[in-house]
Amino acid sequence: MNNPILLNNLRNVPDFPVPGIQFKDVTTLFKNAECMRVMLDELYELYKDKGITKVVGIESRGFVMGAALAVRLGAGFVMCRKPGKLPADTIRETYMKEYGKDTIEIHSDAIAPDDVVLLHDDLLATGGSMKAALNLVNKFKPAKVYVNFLIELTIEGLNGRKVFPRGTDITTLMRI
Ligand code: AMP
Repeated sequence: MNNPILLNNLRNVPDFPVPGIQFKDVTTLFKNAECMRVMLDELYELYKDKGITKVVGIESRGFVMGAALAVRLGAGFVMCRKPGKLPADTIRETYMKEYGKDTIEIHSDAIAPDDVVLLHDDLLATGGSMKAALNLVNKFKPAKVYVNFLIELTIEGLNGRKVFPRGTDITTLMRI
């Protein structure tokens, strides 16, 4: 947790995409080979004994470590995408954002009832997008669902964890 090499390489971009937002830019972690190794090692240690059979990554920054971790765990990888991107039959979930609504989709044959699923994204802010992804994944009634983020924002009183049902198994590599 809060490995200095990750904290030191994470770029903060003030006022992106709108004034007042401190954007945590994970591209500076992804371009650094040592940071990639550290993140993958830490994720693997957290989930190596959980019997994960599917890692679900949320578009698009959740695809990077999600896919790498799936390979390391010997699990499959599933994409949770913005509407209209997935080619076959999908199920979708619409959720409220600060301004307006957003929707995410997953292929309707992506997960089986005997799957142990790890949902992964880069960052937890309000938790709205991951909660929608969790709702989607739960529709498949998988054996177990875990949730992981690289970064958990704790600044400005954000407490994204509170939107998840009690007992949801959530881990993060950095809390900032
Ligand atoms: P939320 O649904 O509010 O938890 O927002 C999480 C999603 O929005 C993640 O996919 C993040 O990539 C992105 N996001 C929200 N706030 C930030 C931020 N301050 N810095 C970087 N990404 C953010």
